[in-house]
Amino acid sequence: MKTSKVFTNPTILKILDYYKNLWALSYAIGIAHWDLETYMPPKGVGARGEALGRLSTIRQKLFLNKDFVSLIHKSQKINNLTDEEKAVVRMLTRSLKFYEKLPSKFIEEFENLTNKSTVVWREAKAKNDFKLFKPYLTKIFNSNCKMADYLGYVNSPYDALLDQYEEGLTTKYVENFFLEIKNPLKNLLSKIMNAKPARIATQSVAGGYDKQKMSELNDKILKYFWGEYGQNFRLDTSTHPFTTSFSKSDTRITTWYHDRDFARSLLATIHEFGHALYDLQSADELEMTSIAGGSSLIIHESQSRFWENFMGRSESFIDKFLSDMQLAVHSSQLTVDSVYTYFNKVSPGLLRVEADEVTYHFHIMLRFEIEKEVIEGRLEVRDLREIWNAKMKDYLGITPENDSEGVLQDIHWSGGSVGYFPTYSLGTFLGAQWADQMKVGPLQTRPLEGPTFVKLWLRNHIHKFGSTYTLVDLLKKNGMKFDPKVNLKYLQEKYSKIYNF
Ligand code: MG
Repeated sequence: MKTSKVFTNPTILKILDYYKNLWALSYAIGIAHWDLETYMPPKGVGARGEALGRLSTIRQKLFLNKDFVSLIHKSQKINNLTDEEKAVVRMLTRSLKFYEKLPSKFIEEFENLTNKSTVVWREAKAKNDFKLFKPYLTKIFNSNCKMADYLGYVNSPYDALLDQYEEGLTTKYVENFFLEIKNPLKNLLSKIMNAKPARIATQSVAGGYDKQKMSELNDKILKYFWGEYGQNFRLDTSTHPFTTSFSKSDTRITTWYHDRDFARSLLATIHEFGHALYDLQSADELEMTSIAGGSSLIIHESQSRFWENFMGRSESFIDKFLSDMQLAVHSSQLTVDSVYTYFNKVSPGLLRVEADEVTYHFHIMLRFEIEKEVIEGRLEVRDLREIWNAKMKDYLGITPENDSEGVLQDIHWSGGSVGYFPTYSLGTFLGAQWADQMKVGPLQTRPLEGPTFVKLWLRNHIHKFGSTYTLVDLLKKNGMKFDPKVNLKYLQEKYSKIYNF
């Protein structure tokens, strides 16, 4: 294998050599997933699900190879490792814990359950019928409880689930975070709702648009952000936008196109670009190792939300692409002002994926509270629709008229993910801290003149390290600590300007 100064320890080199088998298998699984979401004919879903289920079992067997496991155990006792070598041990120890503690029968059954559940969820959502999905959702929550028991925890079983998505994240930490932001956001929202917006978005902004022109605009934006767009990075369409990376020379994102509201397509493209950039700018030496690209979902989401909120929603960005936006909506009436107001409109809505920067976090609080209560055994899945609707009314003053805009709206639970949502809010708050560090954004003096400075800063402070550091350590390395006040201040100042209060 390629030798480099970051990996020199002979045990680590042996580990990385074997790890390439796991990397190759994950690579193939990744392609199969990407294809499933983009180009696979719909009837292929049965065989693809079966194949992916088998592959995940094979991956577990390959990981639990006796020699490999003993190399990992051996590496845990070595003292003089580089930061990257330590990280390899840390990441593999995490995976090993997962594979050793979860019986393979459980992993296989869980994979089958989530494959089936996703299909049923789609049908239930289309029919607005929570009852249809309820038995599957019950099994998914039960399986997650079982998983928490297998993995072990100190205080709450929900801790074990959170830790799968963000290393070391605890229920207590998330509770305190939401406690800190809840009232300031409530106050801000009520000020916004009582204010008359200084400028009102015109109908031409939010209405229908030309999908072909929008797709050309997405290409143009990505080319502007990343010169090698089309060479080592591509964009496709899927039912829900996502990012996947096979290597730093082959990173892929998807976006979506709806019948109205071009902002959804544009901001989704920029959001996913933020994720992609992390992988594209990870150091060459980390390729094909267990620490290539980012593994902390909070750091990852801080990247996507930074690009979406601070680049995509900025006046200078809108100014740059205004004529393309005019083409997409067939209206020369569009102005920087009207688009800016529209991109930054605050309005309580039923759907998380459409939520603005202020109301977004209430959607996450609601999900966090529900997940925690079910996992800790104080809430039954059969009551979720009622609880959901009551919390929606409490937080945002609105009630879903049907399940597809309520409890059935997200895909996460059907795919087995419980404990994922909090990383969205935490990541968004962290995104504002990076902007603050770079001194870019609507309240800063440094104008956001193109992506060059930002990309370089992010590469040097975050991306090049891949998964070398945990969230806490990366912040420490940058002389920072997680501080929700930064985003609260940004929101307060930005929206008091837009809404004139
Ligand atoms: Mg994201």
